[in-house]
Amino acid sequence: MNAPTRTDLARGTGVDVDRIRADFPILARPTSAGKRLVFLDTAASAQKPRQVIEAEARVYETEYANIHRGVYELSQKATAAYDKARSKVRALLNAASDREIVFVRNGTEAINLVAASWGRKNLKEGDQVILSEMEHHANIVPWQMLRDAIGIELVVIPITDTGELAWEAYEQAFTARTRLVAMTHVSNALGTIVPIREVTRVAHEHGVPVLVDGCQAVPHMPVDVQEIDADFYVFSGHKIYGPTGVGALYARESILKDMPPYQGGGDMIASVTFARTTYADIPQRFEAGTPNIAGTIALGAAIDYVTGLDRQALLRHELALRDYATERLSEINAVRIYGTAPEKAGVISFTIEGVHPHDVGTILDFEGIAVRAGHHCTQPVMDRFGIPATTRASFGIYNDFDDVDDLIRGIARVQEIFA
Ligand code: PMP
Repeated sequence: MNAPTRTDLARGTGVDVDRIRADFPILARPTSAGKRLVFLDTAASAQKPRQVIEAEARVYETEYANIHRGVYELSQKATAAYDKARSKVRALLNAASDREIVFVRNGTEAINLVAASWGRKNLKEGDQVILSEMEHHANIVPWQMLRDAIGIELVVIPITDTGELAWEAYEQAFTARTRLVAMTHVSNALGTIVPIREVTRVAHEHGVPVLVDGCQAVPHMPVDVQEIDADFYVFSGHKIYGPTGVGALYARESILKDMPPYQGGGDMIASVTFARTTYADIPQRFEAGTPNIAGTIALGAAIDYVTGLDRQALLRHELALRDYATERLSEINAVRIYGTAPEKAGVISFTIEGVHPHDVGTILDFEGIAVRAGHHCTQPVMDRFGIPATTRASFGIYNDFDDVDDLIRGIARVQEIFA
């Protein structure tokens, strides 16, 4: 039997990439050097389909007003659309209730909210928070700020040479002072998919809640917070083909209802006098001030867009791209891939011997190929592998096998220049 061709591979995943690509106007625009855009930086931020762009424009054109305040029609329409977006996030994560969904600016703000609100209420000096060595800075720095403010301790679980969580170290890390596990679902630097259901199981055996950083998971795989049994789950809208400036925090209702506000102001109160303020119920208590109304409604459109596709097939497609790219990159002697966990998302971090990752990124850019070069906001991962940076190619639903071929050709060009 012949080896499968690239077309076979693409067909095998059951995804019509050409149809998907046609929804993303930016992909049809050549780069300023006249090249086809090969966008391989979806882990940093995803491109937007026309359906999302138009949804945001439609809000401003037809139903825009501030929410929760007006008695007039436009305000009521905007409020209804905003509330509907909350239900869409609830359904996306399979949360039990809309009350468990808080809109925030992004995943970073969601983690800061939990650290500032839940953390300051429930943690005291000497209490321990377990993190992993592969966390994004967004899931490190807020806990360090809390450490510096109130004296908690951070317990960091190492990662293995393949970029997996050192499982025994995790199981043994729990003490009588462990109060929280804060861990990524999928590593943005290595692609590792963490066995998060097992992570929550072990933590709950010790009576410890778990915050899951889902920024790299929600855009690429179905997520069920009840099945995962997460206590907190966060993600950013811009990585799931939605607009920038909106993200969500899921928190179990029994936990959220006992959390104090994060920011004070309009929309989060029940009543205010100079003597005393009482707060609104959840989730409004955590949404002070005018939110990103149009962006949130457009996030709802992004959720409609991805859930309108076959998400299992999309995942298969991204994993097929991952496998094909890994295979092609492995044929190049000078390339070393960081992150080789068997359970891995469509993220490939690599170095080319003798070439700085920034130079790789710059030369690929001349070829129309957008990749990320740097530490990916995961400096501890770079330290773990003793490197300053990597080049990272990451896939989204619009990437195809030609993109991988172009990447491989671009790397050959890098090697020619540096030969
Ligand atoms: N966590 C992970 C795993 C990420 O990949 C990112 C974005 N690179 C973040 C958190 C932070 O996301 P944002 O910048 O949208 O807040």
